Amino acid sequence: MNRCDSCGLVFATPLWTSAEADTVFANYRGWPEGISGGVSDRSAGMAQIARQIHIHWRDQATSTPGLLDIGCADGEFFRVMAATQDGFQFSGVEPDPKWQHHDYGNARVYPVTLRQCQFPDAHFDVVTILDAFCYFPDPKAHVEEIMRILKPGGLFVFDIPGQHYLRLRGLVGSWFRLGRTQTFAAYPYYYAHPSVLALLAGTPHQIKAIVVDRGTVQDHPWLKAGLQGYTGIIKRGADQFASLREFAPKLIYLIRKV
Ligand SMILES: [Zn+2]
Repeated sequence: MNRCDSCGLVFATPLWTSAEADTVFANYRGWPEGISGGVSDRSAGMAQIARQIHIHWRDQATSTPGLLDIGCADGEFFRVMAATQDGFQFSGVEPDPKWQHHDYGNARVYPVTLRQCQFPDAHFDVVTILDAFCYFPDPKAHVEEIMRILKPGGLFVFDIPGQHYLRLRGLVGSWFRLGRTQTFAAYPYYYAHPSVLALLAGTPHQIKAIVVDRGTVQDHPWLKAGLQGYTGIIKRGADQFASLREFAPKLIYLIRKV
């Protein structure tokens, strides 16, 4: 892995190219099927994101707002959103054929990549990428495409793991000889805050909120409680010192198109 000295981006080399992207997603098998379906701990994280969308969306007066979830897998986020607020019309992008047998209910899911969808300008009110942004090849082009298909005033919501948190987890993992000792191994990109700013630069945007979250945890009560407490401390600290945010398990960015 390499790290950019000026923006803190950690990235795998060789970089995934745009041309490779479609193949990578079509063949992506990194997310075990067992994690989906029914109620998982992912639903708790998604409920937090749904709440944040509600907070930052409620001043909008659109009657049937359109929400696009990129990498929607089995459509869990549609169910979580529908349970917390009415009126949204759901669309999804899911190029991974593993999920394409799912019944998405009223949501319209496109079994191709975002680029291939060729949505019109200013088409969606909310665009989300959950637990997937770090996989996106050519992230600058993707962010520009998302800002293009968002309506002015619309929200772009995505989450990333905190870099310092991953370092800490890798360190603790190696002390206790746990499984996750490879700090930066799963994704092609690990974003630090300045690298997120670099991606957004040049697009008409305003950062509405950066929310510290505990992320998805394995189903151990003490692990969940421990991480909850840890995240609470980071959350309070980050209100004073923004740089502490990088210690958060998960950061949720809410970006408004202006
Ligand atoms: Zn950089």
